[in-house]
Amino acid sequence: MNLPWLRESWRQLLRDFQQQRLSHAHCIPAREELGASIFTENFVRLLLCHQPVQQACGACKSCALWEAGTHPDYYELRSEEGRAIGIDKIRELTHQLQQTANQQGAKVAWIKEAHRLTTEAANALLKTLEEPSADTYLILSPEQTVDLLPTLRSRMQLHRFNQPDQLVIKQWLAQQLQRELSPTELQIIAAYPGAPLKALAALGGEHDNIQRVEQIAQALAGVTTWPQVTKDDADAWLQATITWLQEVMRVHQQVTPERCHYPQLRALAKQWLQKHSQQPITQLSQQLAMCYNLRQIMREQSGLNMPLLLLKQWLQWQ
Ligand SMILES: [Zn+2]
Repeated sequence: MNLPWLRESWRQLLRDFQQQRLSHAHCIPAREELGASIFTENFVRLLLCHQPVQQACGACKSCALWEAGTHPDYYELRSEEGRAIGIDKIRELTHQLQQTANQQGAKVAWIKEAHRLTTEAANALLKTLEEPSADTYLILSPEQTVDLLPTLRSRMQLHRFNQPDQLVIKQWLAQQLQRELSPTELQIIAAYPGAPLKALAALGGEHDNIQRVEQIAQALAGVTTWPQVTKDDADAWLQATITWLQEVMRVHQQVTPERCHYPQLRALAKQWLQKHSQQPITQLSQQLAMCYNLRQIMREQSGLNMPLLLLKQWLQWQ
C-alpha cells in the first residue's frame, strides 16, 4: 500500500494486531480521496491471511481466495442503489457470522455505506458487537464517523486518517505517474487539495491502468502480441496481469456481470477459457502464483531485468 499519509494509521493497526489487542469492531470512514478502501482492503486481507507479517502474505490459500473474490469467510454488505440497509440484511449477516469459519481463520464482514443503516438495523448490529463470536471482525465504513449511532460508535475502534499536505501529494503523484509533473498538471492538482486519489484520477492515472488490463486481456486471448515493457512500467504491467487473471477467475466461477470489474472484457475472458478448457482453475492458480512470486522478487531485489522476466513468464503461457 504505497499511500504515505496512511502509513501511521497502518502502523498503529498493525501494532494492535501483533499484540492481539485488536478490537472486534472498527469504524473506518469512507474517505476515498485518501484511499480508505485500499486501507480497509489491506486490513481485511491481513485479518484473513494465514501467515501475515507486516501485511497479508499474498501467497497463502486464504490470500488467493481473497484475490479471486471468492473467500468464503468474507462478507460484504452495502446499500442497493442508495437505499437504506435494513434489519433483514443485518440479521442475515449476523446469522452467517455465527457459522464456523470455512478456512479455519478469521471471519470478516465489511459494511460499506454504513451511514445508510436504519436505526433498527444499527440496534441489531449492536447486539452482535456486545457478544462477538471468536475471531470475528466487523468493519463499518460510513461517510463520516458521526453518521453512526453514538451507542454503536462507543463500541468500536474509530480510525481517522491524516490529510497529506500538497508537497507530499505532489511527490506521490510524480512517483505514481513516473515522471515530473507539468505546470498544467500542477494546476489540476491544486484543484484537489488534500485529495490525492482524486487528483490522480484527474490526471488520468486510472485510465492508464484500464488500458493495460485490456492489452493483457487481448494478448492472453491471443488477439494481439504482448506489450512492450520498460523497467519503469514493469510493475504496472505485472499488476495489470494479476488484475486480469483474477477477472478470468471470476468469469469462470460465473460471478454475475455486476460483480465483475471489467464486464466490457467478458468476451475475452471467455475466449481464454475456451482455449484452456482443460483444468482452467489449475492453470489460472498457477499463473497467479507465478505473478505473486515475481512481485515478491521485484520488491526484494533491485537490478534484475524485470521486463525480460515478465515477458518470459507471459511467453510460457501461450
Ligand atoms: Zn496470506
